Order: sequence, then C-alpha cells, then structure tokens
Amino acid sequence: MSRGLAVLGATGSIGCSTLEIVDLFPDRFRVVSLTAGRNLERLAEQVRRYRPVRVAVLGDEDAERLAGLLGDDRPEISCGLEGLIACATEPEVDLVVSAIVGSAGLLPTMRAIEAGKDIALANKETLVAAGAAVMGAVRRHGVNLYPVDSEHSAIFQALQGRQGNAVRRLILTASGGPFRRMPVDKLRDVTLEKALDHPNWSMGPKITIDSATMMNKGLEVIEASWLFDLPADQITVHIHPQSIVHSMVEYLDGSVIAQMGVPDMKAPIAYAMAYPERLELPMPPLDLCGLGQLTFEEPDPERFPCLELAYRALRRGGTAPAVLNAANEVAVEAFLDRRIGFMDIPELISAVLDLHQPGCCDSIDQALEADLWGRAEAREIMRKKGVDPS
Ligand code: NAD
Ligand code: MG
Repeated sequence: MSRGLAVLGATGSIGCSTLEIVDLFPDRFRVVSLTAGRNLERLAEQVRRYRPVRVAVLGDEDAERLAGLLGDDRPEISCGLEGLIACATEPEVDLVVSAIVGSAGLLPTMRAIEAGKDIALANKETLVAAGAAVMGAVRRHGVNLYPVDSEHSAIFQALQGRQGNAVRRLILTASGGPFRRMPVDKLRDVTLEKALDHPNWSMGPKITIDSATMMNKGLEVIEASWLFDLPADQITVHIHPQSIVHSMVEYLDGSVIAQMGVPDMKAPIAYAMAYPERLELPMPPLDLCGLGQLTFEEPDPERFPCLELAYRALRRGGTAPAVLNAANEVAVEAFLDRRIGFMDIPELISAVLDLHQPGCCDSIDQALEADLWGRAEAREIMRKKGVDPS
C-alpha cells in the first residue's frame, strides 16, 4: 500500500525535494494534497504531474488564477488557513510533510496531529513557538513525528540503538554560514546578496538568512529540546564547516554516535518519509579521504549573538521562544526587503525579548498570542527608529 502524502509548502526547497523522492519511489508514495504560497506556476506543474485531490493557495485571487492555469481538469482548490488545514487533514493522507516556512505552519500541523496524521516536520518554527502544545498533542493522539531537519534526523538516527540509556549531551553541528571568518566589525556592512550565498546548502531565503546569523542553529537547539526532551544545558553547538557530520549524541559512558553523509536534504527527508526503512537514494559515496579532514570549532558569541538569544529564550521558557521566533521572522523579512541591516536582526530580537515577561505557553492559543505580541513589538520598535515596519 502506498503512503498518502500531504505536502505543505510544496513549491519550496523542502517541498520540491520531497516530490523528488516521490519521483524516485512512485509505488510507495501517493500525493494526496499540495499547498503553496505565491508560486502558482510551479504549483500548477506539480498538480499536472502528481494529480492531488486537493490543493491550497493563499487567497481567493490565487485560487482563481490557479484555476485558470489548470483549466477544467483540476482538483479541489481551497485557500487560506482553512485550505491548509483541509489539505493537512484530507482522509487519504497518512503522512503530512510540514514544510511551510515560519509560524504559518503551526496550525495546519497541529490540526493534522489532531486528525491522527503522522508528521515529517521540516517547519522548525512550529516546535519553537509551541513545543509544549505540539508534543502534548503528538502523545495524546499517538502519532509519529519524524524530524526532517538534518541535525534532528541525525540525532534521531543516533538514538536508534539507545535501548533506554540516558543521553549526556546532544551536539548539533552548524556550517557557520558565509560569515564564519569575516571580521566582526565588518558584519554591519554585509549585503543581502552575500547573506543569501550559503556555502553548503541550497535553501529558501528565510532559513538561508537564519543560517548566516546562526539563528537557525538557535531555533534548532530549541527544536531539539522539545523533540528529545532535554534542557538547554545538555544541548551544545559545534561549528563544522564541511557539513558532513550532521549531529551527534553523547552517551553517559562518553561514547559519541555521529551520523554522517553528503549534505543533501533528500536523505533526511526520505528517512522521515519511509522510517524505519532506508530508501536507496542516488547519493554519491561519502569521500572522506578526498575531504581529508573534518574540523570543529566553538561558535563565537560576538559574531553570532542570535545563538545566545535563542539559548536565553529557551532557558526563560514559557512564551519566550515564541516571541523570539516571531521577532526573528519580522526582522528577517525586513532584512530581505532591505529595510534593516544584517546586525539589526539580533538587536531587534534582543530588544523585543527584553520587553517580554514570559507567560505560560501550554496551548496553541497562548503560543499564537505570544507570536502576535512579538511581531507587534518588533514592528513598534522599528517604527520608533524610523524604519518602515511594513
Ligand atoms: P521555502 O521558502 O523554499 O519554501 C516555503 C514554502 O512555504 C513555499 O512553498 C511557500 O510558498 C510556502 N509558504 C511560505 N509562506 C507561507 C504562508 N504564509 N502560508 C502558506 N504557505 C507559505 O522554504 P524551505 O527552505 O523549503 O523551508 C521550509 C521549512 O523547512 C522552514 O521551516 C525551514 O526552516 C525548514 N528547513 C528547511 C531546510 C532546507 O534545506 N531548505 C532544512 C531544514 C529545515
Ligand atoms: Mg538544520
């Protein structure tokens, strides 16, 4: 029996890689629903190829335009949050690949869990903003949540032989992005083009900027804390520029289990899609001798203040991570629109966190409220500084 898939964020980097896996294994996976933001041409191509029963787009106008592109032979087209939820909860869906960027992915992922669907989670912002609620729902509804993020997939794999043994530490690796060696006083002048030029991974714009600031690793520390139920003190980050060791688990006896591979997101996506089976993928062999060496270094807090901000939010707990994430989304959007500079990103997030009194964050509603508060505060601070808050 093939697995029915909902791909949320199908036109993005993870969404397209997911569909490449479907191309490789057409007998194992069946695309039931697809969703997209603005890239309707790509969505139309995907609909013709995979013939889902339902698709979702952002608004009514997008729906009309997509209908025009597809003609009469088309699936059900829905829009907005309702459309996303309808796609995520379609009866024939077994596994939801949650690959929308940002906290927009939160509610559809949550509703899918409540409908008993298994989740392949790329959308880390969901766990950062609402980890307690999401993990609680996963347990209550008895569904499986498979990590897609390469670091968390690595840890998930390194935990396979655990047999109840306690973990001493998780070691998340980070490439260090394009600015690992740039003098710190030059970071202020970093251009958007330079920040978008990631050395090892090809990804959507938001996560590429998050990788340059290392907020991506900060969000991943929080994500790991929820997925593997460990506090901030037991999760550490090493910069590993070759991106070959995807992350590591240190056990109580000092043994460290690492997962390695060429940096290609298709590997962790396929692992999440077919777990516990490993699919045969057309990956080049890992040429360790050709690489010669794998190096590791500690992240410099002065260069990467965003990583420290994420640890600060995780330690404060409650609504603080949701606020951190919201402020980061607003800041990154402003940087992508050239309204603020690169080092204004951590400054803005820090200012919002300083104003925040963390409250309880056990429910989705509390997480969404904190998200809205963080966005509003970030915009207010920009307005006061004379920056267009959009
Ligand atoms: P992307 O920007 O390439 O794609 C995002 C997708 O979501 C697109 O289909 C877009 O149309 C859709 N989308 C964006 N905003 C939306 C909204 N408000 N409502 C509905 N749909 C919307 O992003 P990506 O790089 O594929 O990343 C997706 C998620 O996966 C992110 O949470 C990211 O952190 C995570 N992730 C990505 C990678 C990677 O290699 N790209 C690796 C690990 C984790
Ligand atoms: Mg990652």
